[in-house]
Amino acid sequence: MKLLTYKDLIHTIKKESIPVDQERLKQVYHFAEEAHADQKRYSGEPFFQHPLHVANIIASWGMDQTTIETALLHDVVEDTSFTVKDLEKKFGKQVAFLVNGVTNAGKVKLRNSINQEFTENLRKMFVAMSRDIRVVLVRLADRYHNMLTLRAVPKSKQRRIAFETMEIYAPLAERLGMGEMKGDLEDLSFMYIHPKEYRQVSRLAEEHFTKAKKTTDKVILDISKLLKKNHISAQVDGRYKKKYSLYRKLQRLSVKGDINKINDLIAVRIITNNKLDCYKALGLVHQYFKPVPHMGISDFIAQPKPNGYQSIHTKIFNKEGQIIEVQIRTQDMHEQAEFGAAHHSFYSEAKAKGASEEDLEKGTAFKITQKMNWVQQLAEWQKQTQSSEEFVTDLKLDALSHRIYVFSPLGDVYDLPTQATPVDFAFAVHSDIGFHLQGAKVNQRMAPLDHPLQSGDIVEVIKSKRKRRPSRDWLTFVKSNKAKAEIKKALNL
Ligand code: MN
Repeated sequence: MKLLTYKDLIHTIKKESIPVDQERLKQVYHFAEEAHADQKRYSGEPFFQHPLHVANIIASWGMDQTTIETALLHDVVEDTSFTVKDLEKKFGKQVAFLVNGVTNAGKVKLRNSINQEFTENLRKMFVAMSRDIRVVLVRLADRYHNMLTLRAVPKSKQRRIAFETMEIYAPLAERLGMGEMKGDLEDLSFMYIHPKEYRQVSRLAEEHFTKAKKTTDKVILDISKLLKKNHISAQVDGRYKKKYSLYRKLQRLSVKGDINKINDLIAVRIITNNKLDCYKALGLVHQYFKPVPHMGISDFIAQPKPNGYQSIHTKIFNKEGQIIEVQIRTQDMHEQAEFGAAHHSFYSEAKAKGASEEDLEKGTAFKITQKMNWVQQLAEWQKQTQSSEEFVTDLKLDALSHRIYVFSPLGDVYDLPTQATPVDFAFAVHSDIGFHLQGAKVNQRMAPLDHPLQSGDIVEVIKSKRKRRPSRDWLTFVKSNKAKAEIKKALNL
């Protein structure tokens, strides 16, 4: 990897127009550099290159000066003799609070057997995260750089680190709405967890990407012309499917390893200046190319995913009858989809409300917004869980599982773990609804309470007149921690 200097960091900061006090930044930089002075990485590089790269990644996400400083200092407490108190004296409470949070969160390591220490640290991470989301962003940047340089780490450690990334950090990035980061972390882990399959998929992808590129380039050109003729200014290009995502799709029953059945190898992406242009573009695309029947349009602009993702997805036939996926979004939505919780929109709310001096002092000014409600829930819920084993199992089944998106009849969207049931849905809407649950309709048809829901389902709860005791039986099939906890509480378990 390229050796970075202070100049490179400043270059990134300027490029992202981040306001910084250079005098102070320099002080932090030199302090961290000196603190790590006699340490080396496995690769033989000076250790300080690592925090510097992490700071550079954080800056490339457009994060503020405090977060950049936290990144520079993130391993000082862990790996040198300096303490959090020392940092507080030198650089103030805020940075010290963040470094402390990152240090605790960093001890989260996934072992084969679930040990007490692991879960305790996982808990700490979520608590730190619920107080200030910047903690976890530095952690993700740290993990990303470690994955990029994993090659130099002893073989015996590589697999464990890759597993941990795949199971904890990639899903975390997804839940934070950081689509790019999630895909990159998955691909980097995939390489070490299944090296053989990784090579196979890479070879297969390369072959078919070349073919797919020809067909998509033509569509891209046609769409560009079409939009221009209709005075819609937009950027049209292709996005390549990531390898791990392709690997998973190849394993689906309907695909059975046949790459020709995958029609979003390269998707066409239209990025417009405003929302209205998104819909105009959709209309034009559907007039020019035939939309594929029954595969449907997903309008995540009108109904954003709970992690904030917004875009319109549609599938069309090109002139040769091949199916092509088209994604339409504004520039702002695009940035949000890539950077998620690191995107400025997550802070604008905090800024609009005005962060109090006290909050800034405590480092709680960057408290997560409504969009990140699940982090709050998680921090609450981890207080209630007793056994570590239960905590980790539940965490994987719920918060870090693949999510589905289901709707209320009024169109409110809820995200639930895969295989969630109408009981999970009822408790997600409100615990009171859970306690009045008598039956459920899924897509306007009566469905059993243990019916596994799917993304896009519309769920209607049929309520009893009076509050009911939940059935003990429900515990055998509910998937979400919220439902589980509420039922247990009501049954005094
Ligand atoms: Mn680190």
